[in-house]
Amino acid sequence: MTSNKLPAQILAAATILTAAPLSANASDNPGTHQHGHAELQVAISNNQVDLIFTSPAYNLLGFEHEARTGEQEASVKETIAWLRTTPLVNTPESSCRIQDADVHYEANTGDDDHRDQGHDHDEKPARHSDIEVSQSLTCSGLEGSNELTTPLTIRFPGLEHLSLEWVWPEGQGSGRLAQGESLFKLTTH
Ligand SMILES: [Zn+2]
Repeated sequence: MTSNKLPAQILAAATILTAAPLSANASDNPGTHQHGHAELQVAISNNQVDLIFTSPAYNLLGFEHEARTGEQEASVKETIAWLRTTPLVNTPESSCRIQDADVHYEANTGDDDHRDQGHDHDEKPARHSDIEVSQSLTCSGLEGSNELTTPLTIRFPGLEHLSLEWVWPEGQGSGRLAQGESLFKLTTH
């Protein structure tokens, strides 16, 4: 395996990262917002990891409306702080360090928010909101390893499935983790 950065790989990484939704308001793009599911896009080059994590706020907070109680407010603050300070991808040795992180979340402010319980959104079009996190990490020992972990499916019980896409020096691949699964292998397919 080579550690050279090839232009095609950098281009592919840029394509994946810019393909992520720019707006946190999922109503702009109703096909992608599905409670229980979230997406993690990862670009790996040498010891550098750039990632974008996009999830319905419901998976991480249990609600998508503005915080109405002190408890909800604390939960929002705690969750955002965790997303900003915890590497969302790591090596099995936990060697990744955050160089840069950004969390974007706008609660929906509509009166017709959907229910906090269950997944029933059929009665009327509900307003939804997403949480989007971008991180740049440096991970010593990343080269030569093809195993990574994510803490997301353990930290958030509301996350039933996490779709993964990655670009790394050997190509591109994708995978899927279920609730509680944290380890994924970089493969090309
Ligand atoms: Zn929603």
